[in-house]
Amino acid sequence: MRMKKIFVILCSIFCLFNAHAQDYKKLHFESILCDTHNDIISTCLEKGYSFDEDLTGKTHSDLNRMFKAGVDVQVFSIWCDGTQPNPYAFANREIDTLYAWIKRNPSKMMLVTNSDELMQAIKQHKLASMIGVEGGHMMENSLDKLDSLYARGTRYMTLTWNNNTDWATSAKFEHDSAQSQRKIGLTDFGKQVVQHMNKIGMMVDVSHVGEKTFWDVINTTTKPVIASHSSVYAICPVPRNLKDDQIQAVAKNGGVIQINFYSGFLDSTFDKKEKAFEARHAAEKGSLMKTGKNEFFADNALFTKYANEVRDMRASFQLVIDHIDYIKKLVGADYVGLGSDFDGISFPPQELDDVTYYPLVTKALLEKGYSKTDIQKILGGNFIRVLKANEVK
Ligand SMILES: [Zn+2]
Repeated sequence: MRMKKIFVILCSIFCLFNAHAQDYKKLHFESILCDTHNDIISTCLEKGYSFDEDLTGKTHSDLNRMFKAGVDVQVFSIWCDGTQPNPYAFANREIDTLYAWIKRNPSKMMLVTNSDELMQAIKQHKLASMIGVEGGHMMENSLDKLDSLYARGTRYMTLTWNNNTDWATSAKFEHDSAQSQRKIGLTDFGKQVVQHMNKIGMMVDVSHVGEKTFWDVINTTTKPVIASHSSVYAICPVPRNLKDDQIQAVAKNGGVIQINFYSGFLDSTFDKKEKAFEARHAAEKGSLMKTGKNEFFADNALFTKYANEVRDMRASFQLVIDHIDYIKKLVGADYVGLGSDFDGISFPPQELDDVTYYPLVTKALLEKGYSKTDIQKILGGNFIRVLKANEVK
């Protein structure tokens, strides 16, 4: 009798667990998941890969893994650093690459430039593919070039990357430089750029910008802004993250902050751990570089060789949820979303090895007691609201 009772209890626990597992998967795959930042285009150009081949083990994402992950909308980042001599031409070269992928995979991908097209792509089970330009230097100080980037499908522009433009200062610059630096924040032309983006229907992205630039944007924009891949400064105080007053200002503006998965933006102890790793392997890195490898490839060789050390160094998965929860508690669930930065970061959190682990985020939010409505806002609803609010019909 007693055995039978134990058996029944065990069965109910298993059934409950199983129902719960199915619940989170059902919710995850029936929700619209929008990831607003992925650098796979740059990675593919650098390494000679293509998004529509199986890149498992080589990258964080590829076309088929996007479907496994339940990603419905991906904003592809168009990026080059500030040293590129022809940044506008380079941006167009990257957009060409995305166009080629879409053309080769008409049943799996669709270029999306507004919320109607976004819903259409989802209905047709295609990856809604959007364009975000990461760095105002790519418009080369020309509103005409900005118009052309819009015409090719760009729907957000990150005003700066780590480098300044002639009209806006970056978080890196404002943090690293003395207060006495001659230009801080947006110039008059910078304000015109923001107004022009508002006019044509391109979202203003405040990730990477300095604090002064951020406040100048907030005081200039007439539309909700996006932080396409930034996290919370109060948990991890790095210049790329947003402070409480900035998060409150984005909420007041009706915008959204899309949480970045980079361990260095999630975990305040990461920087120390990374420096210790570098110190431990400095001699080996030096000899790798002497054999002709550049720094990027030397680092990657060490990350592969010492994979166990790298795994221990990465931020805990729980921190992703903590950053989301911090914003929800501070301003509400309407102002937070996901901008992984996959394929632009070397250290995603533990358990989020690649894009296919995305359902774990839904699972964790569900376990934390978030409502279905809030989860769906965070996964994509908030981003779609901001996209719509910026559209010009
Ligand atoms: Zn970035």
